Amino acid sequence: METIDGDVTWDDLINLPVDPPIKRNICRNCKRPVAVCYCEYLPTERLDPLCKVILLQHPAEEKRCLHTATILSLSLKKERCVVYKGTKFPQNRHSGLYEILNLPNTLLLYPTANAVDLRRLPKVTEESQLNYTLVIIDGTWPQAKTIYNKSTALHALKQVKLSHHQGSEYIIRTQPTENCLSTLETAAEALSVLENKPNLKKDLLRPLKALCKYQLNHGATVHESKEYRLKNKTYPKLIGKRLKKLLEKTRTEETSFNEMIQNQNEICEKL
Ligand SMILES: [Zn+2]
Repeated sequence: METIDGDVTWDDLINLPVDPPIKRNICRNCKRPVAVCYCEYLPTERLDPLCKVILLQHPAEEKRCLHTATILSLSLKKERCVVYKGTKFPQNRHSGLYEILNLPNTLLLYPTANAVDLRRLPKVTEESQLNYTLVIIDGTWPQAKTIYNKSTALHALKQVKLSHHQGSEYIIRTQPTENCLSTLETAAEALSVLENKPNLKKDLLRPLKALCKYQLNHGATVHESKEYRLKNKTYPKLIGKRLKKLLEKTRTEETSFNEMIQNQNEICEKL
């Protein structure tokens, strides 16, 4: 056996050509595969609304590939969007949340029977020196319900809702339909209503719209939502009159944002 000087051997090994590492190309900012990165559609400068958004996020939510709350937090100035994670709020680790929940102008966007239509609240303007802290539960409808029920501190908050209004493109998050608004849409709609700034909504939704377009161009399948199945009588569960009425009223988009979000998650898994 030929003996080689130790250093030379190591040098040879180090200089051996290696295959490039196989890794997914992930965008550092949005943490999504580069092919479905939406960063170029985010506002060039983070937006600075007068109101603040607090997201109470279910732990399962952040695991989703297209997590719309991330678009929101990447679009707003850091102090304008604060995320607390958990299934019950507030807990000791949620630093500052207890104080926020006790502020006089903190609103909970949650459709209880007592919830007031957000459109009826006084508008926020630079001059009025009025601003709201808007608390939104970030999760699926059943997760949001569980969080609300477990978090008694939320029950005392002034509760508001977004009602369906003429000209709205989307179905508003008041009923457990597949088309209820995503967290981003909810926040975008609420902020633009409270501050009377339609551009806020436009800027916040731009990344979602771009992804929607990308998806349509790539011929992704349109999911059969619960709403679709109910309308086509293929959903076995009996539904109440109110929900039935709401579903009948709603528009069926070719690809709604929620279907798009589901599709995007599947595209991500494949990439
Ligand atoms: Zn990105």
